Amino acid sequence: MTGGTGARPMFEKVLIANRGEIALRIHRACRELGIATVAVHSTADADAMHVRLANESVCIGPPQARDSYLNVAAILSAATITGADAIHPGYGFLSENADFAAMVEEHGLAFIGPTPEHIRMMGDKVVAKQTARKLGIPCVPGSDGPVQDLDAAVAAAEQIGYPVLIKAAAGGGGRGMKVAASRAVLEEAFRTARGEAEAAFGDGRVYMEKYLGHPRHIEIQVIGDSHGNVVHLGERDCSLQRKHQKLVEESPSPALNAEQRMEIGTTVCDALRKLGYRNAGTVEFLYEDGKFYFIEMNTRLQVEHPVTEMITGIDLVREQIRIAAGAPLSFSQDDVRFAGHAIECRVTAETPTDFRPSPGRVAEYHPPGGLGVRVDSALYAGYSVPPYYDSMVAKLIVHGATRNEALMRLRRSLDEFVIGGIETTLPLHRRILGSGDFVDGAYDIHWLERFVGLKR
Ligand code: ADP
Repeated sequence: MTGGTGARPMFEKVLIANRGEIALRIHRACRELGIATVAVHSTADADAMHVRLANESVCIGPPQARDSYLNVAAILSAATITGADAIHPGYGFLSENADFAAMVEEHGLAFIGPTPEHIRMMGDKVVAKQTARKLGIPCVPGSDGPVQDLDAAVAAAEQIGYPVLIKAAAGGGGRGMKVAASRAVLEEAFRTARGEAEAAFGDGRVYMEKYLGHPRHIEIQVIGDSHGNVVHLGERDCSLQRKHQKLVEESPSPALNAEQRMEIGTTVCDALRKLGYRNAGTVEFLYEDGKFYFIEMNTRLQVEHPVTEMITGIDLVREQIRIAAGAPLSFSQDDVRFAGHAIECRVTAETPTDFRPSPGRVAEYHPPGGLGVRVDSALYAGYSVPPYYDSMVAKLIVHGATRNEALMRLRRSLDEFVIGGIETTLPLHRRILGSGDFVDGAYDIHWLERFVGLKR
């Protein structure tokens, strides 16, 4: 490490333990800080954009993620061989693996993220909820801890009141989640949730929550340093979901006013300050009838972080890197200004009506541009989207002075966007933009499923 920007020592070389658009995103932040980058890649990604742009690259294994992007030994060897000072995990893959974060530090490298203890604490959703409650964050009413057997589930459901939601303690990506509307279906829902949790996470522990009928998903972006400072960067409304996965995100939320934003933001910051939380994190809530209910905390950078960057002008990845190098946050809560409105569409390589995977060669690629338009993507014409990984191929993010301006800009940007040769969800996004409910901001977490199911 040498003197970089600012008075503090800064990294000279960062290894990016990821692929796709987020690997590029991290590379860009590094370059602007004068830091060299190391890309790691599977044999399927030899021609990928992150490999082309990085200063150095190391092949870490065959296509399957478990043999490459999840291959801890290969990634740590790549970092050692190339002399990297730090590892940025991106999102997904090893980003919320506490053991990986600990091993990175044991190898004398900086992990660009929270402490292994905080990753572990929030990765167990039962412990996360208990911690949140202790720290004064409002939670969804539910079982106090894991539910061991059917008798305990029946008792918990009676206490909570039907409908209830059974969720995996080790959950993520919406898997292992089952609704039970009444006692008659509880047994089956309980068994299925446990089976799915065991299969997906190797951990069959489940817990229960009140199933909320018409909530919005609103999350608070926070960032803290290792000097005790924690600030929030407002909220993102991620209610447009399919199978509990986000498709469109916006900030500010059409449902919140400035006072509500500051109130929930302050509650979250006070709690995380008590915890000594450092680096970026997101506290996720369901919001119904004017009340917030904590559901989980993600201890990493999120896919939808550009929405926040667009309205605050703060480069979150740059801050993450500075903080990991020991620097204090470069701004205080009072310095954070929210300007205008931003919306993000996640574009996936899937058929737009029935969501079948559509990997293959991108024959044409023309991203939209102009004022207030940002495209985060690792696509290029001639690139082949491999079938092995997440299907997201681009994020289109627009910013406008008002929500209406952002909507107009999004509509024309979607019209300009050409991705040829593979099928993508661009047509679905154009349809969503054509809906009166979306334009009015009148949607909850169930809206998109109903909309997708509608006859066209
Ligand atoms: P995961 O970690 O699998 O993403 P979350 O707890 O973050 O699970 O929940 C994912 C989504 O599931 C939420 O955004 C929301 O749409 C839905 N959900 C979670 N908890 C509830 C609940 N108590 N009531 C209704 N919907 C819920």
